[in-house]
Amino acid sequence: MNSLQNISAEIIVVGAGLAGVTAAAVLARQGRRVILVDPRPSCLPLFRGEKLEPNQAEMLDKLGLLDHLLPQTRRIREVWGGYNGRCFKIFPLKQYSMYYSDMVNVLRAHSPIGVEHKLGHVEHIANGNELQCVRLRSGEELTSRLVVLANGVCNHLQDSLGLHKDVIQKDQSIAFGFSIARRDLRPFPFDATTYYPTTYTEYIDYLALFVMRQEMRANLFVFRTASDPWVRQFVKQPDQMLERALPKLSQLIGEYRVVTKVETGRVDLYRMRGELQPGIVLIGDAYQVACPSTGMGFTKIFMDVDVLSQCVPEWFATPGIGVGKIASFYNNSRKQATDARALETASFERHVVMDRSILWQFHRLKMHLPRMFGSGHFHHLKLHLPSRKEVVRMRRGIISRMLRPFQLTARRFLILPEDKGYTGEHSCLHNAAAFVAWNQIEGDYLEFGVYQGDSFAAAYRAIHKERARRSSFLDNSPSHARGLQTRLRCFAFDSFSGLPEGPGPRHADYTPGAYACTQSKFTRNIVKLGVDLKDVVVVPGFYDKTLNRHTKEQHELRRAAIVMIDCDLFESTVPVLEFVTDLVDQGTILIFHDWFRFSGSPKCGEQRACREWLERNPHLELVEFWREGPQSLSFLVNLR
Ligand SMILES: Cc1cc2nc3c(=O)[nH]c(=O)nc-3n(C[C@H](O)[C@H](O)[C@H](O)COP(=O)(O)OP(=O)(O)OC[C@H]3O[C@@H](n4cnc5c(N)ncnc54)[C@H](O)[C@@H]3O)c2cc1C
Repeated sequence: MNSLQNISAEIIVVGAGLAGVTAAAVLARQGRRVILVDPRPSCLPLFRGEKLEPNQAEMLDKLGLLDHLLPQTRRIREVWGGYNGRCFKIFPLKQYSMYYSDMVNVLRAHSPIGVEHKLGHVEHIANGNELQCVRLRSGEELTSRLVVLANGVCNHLQDSLGLHKDVIQKDQSIAFGFSIARRDLRPFPFDATTYYPTTYTEYIDYLALFVMRQEMRANLFVFRTASDPWVRQFVKQPDQMLERALPKLSQLIGEYRVVTKVETGRVDLYRMRGELQPGIVLIGDAYQVACPSTGMGFTKIFMDVDVLSQCVPEWFATPGIGVGKIASFYNNSRKQATDARALETASFERHVVMDRSILWQFHRLKMHLPRMFGSGHFHHLKLHLPSRKEVVRMRRGIISRMLRPFQLTARRFLILPEDKGYTGEHSCLHNAAAFVAWNQIEGDYLEFGVYQGDSFAAAYRAIHKERARRSSFLDNSPSHARGLQTRLRCFAFDSFSGLPEGPGPRHADYTPGAYACTQSKFTRNIVKLGVDLKDVVVVPGFYDKTLNRHTKEQHELRRAAIVMIDCDLFESTVPVLEFVTDLVDQGTILIFHDWFRFSGSPKCGEQRACREWLERNPHLELVEFWREGPQSLSFLVNLR
């Protein structure tokens, strides 16, 4: 063996996967000379972890490596919890999606100067207290004081070192990776969704959907073996199998189809025994595998690298790296806690899906209740009891649905009192909805300035109610019936950061930032108020950025039936009216929510913007349609 003066490097890292590449970078930044050995010049596309959870991004940031990845990632701001065809909760989580091979290759490309990349397949390692000798398949030998084994699940080197694989669960789980798209080619209305099955008869843990590059990526985690015919069938016919296993998924995300080939990844759950070897330390999957459904593989890697980077300066301060030093790595309490948690979580997930005993039936119930009742965290029981108001609303909804057939029959023979909605709150919306349903005005509902979504949800409900009412009459011509069947979309345009800055006159409640409501809160509210998100298109951002031709083309926005303008200021109303100019038609209803603000002055606010718009567009005329409350006025559009 070579003497210590002639060693090839202080540290040899075997394997340039995520564990190896992060370890090499962090150790080199501590001033160590590192050789990173891998048989491939770049990581091949592999189906592995594709998303950094918030804690993982934080750990990677602490290691000083997150900044290299960020420009290549897709940022996810919130995750919907999906169950039984609906969204039960929106979790504000900052995640980053990226293909595994991209992650590894970006980090390889940004390796610091102290890292020497060596192409080669390590065939044998001779270890000792002072010197480690690594032999490559080419016959070349490399020497170092420390070897970091990060060779993933390829364990033949571990075998030759006399380590023993302690298999905790053979065929722990299988994961499927693929991308989906909506059949109507529209974008999905979320960044990410974690969708849970209502029963575990298919052995599905959950489906994770998340934006990645320009796609909607799907990771499905299932507790089955690779030889299970179900698995083969899924790879062959993913659309049918998904439809069968998660039948109500399309109610939440819209009709979809799988657009890429289905990749699979199976894991045995194991940990290495006999790890106390002089001069060698195992990190990442080389030491212990994580079940993909727990999403803890990266957490383990970053913890290993962090702990190793603490140990190495101390180890190198004195001669030799015997088992005493090595033990300080494996005995580190943070590492032990992370490894133990990864195993516990894997076992928990498996039991929840597979175990039919009473205890686990109870656990399942505990997890399902919050999902059923629209609140709660993933694994903690937090029952959301509906408020009195919600109970009254639900009861009213049920009763009115039960009475509906009788009402419809009775209406053909009797004159029933009009709905309160025609003159009560949001009467402008009810009347507009009735008008467009009865006059066959085609187009979508557009609302500018949605705030917390109350009027948006009221419009949605009114439109559906009036369409249903209209279609219950038997005099529908085929074209009218067809019109009523076409899907009407509701567009929400809002900055979600409140009113913009601007030079014009303002009321005291029109300060910049006033009426801000986050997009997630808006979505949560409208879902609570009964809006089906598959009919909703949210266009977030200030109007100077969003009200343009690109938005129209992206959403195939061609015609507006009802336009609700509730953006208060002259400066905001101007771009709105410009945007709708080619969308309005004979009979389109324009509702100005704040027409009479600024003491009703025609020189300010929505009135001024509208007057100037009409002057620029003499082919349009507005006919007064409905007044509501002290400030709202609706018009219908006449084409001259
Ligand atoms: C399907 C699937 C989905 C997953 N999803 C998630 C997830 O969502 N979140 C999460 O946190 N984790 C997830 N994981 C776990 C995570 O991907 C792994 O923990 C992680 O990839 C392991 O990285 P590693 O560097 O230890 O091993 P690897 O990425 O396997 O790297 C090992 C490297 O060693 C090299 N090598 C092997 N043998 C030799 C040799 N003899 N000589 C030289 N080089 C060698 C290989 O070429 C390779 O580059 C998932 C895993 C799978 C399988």
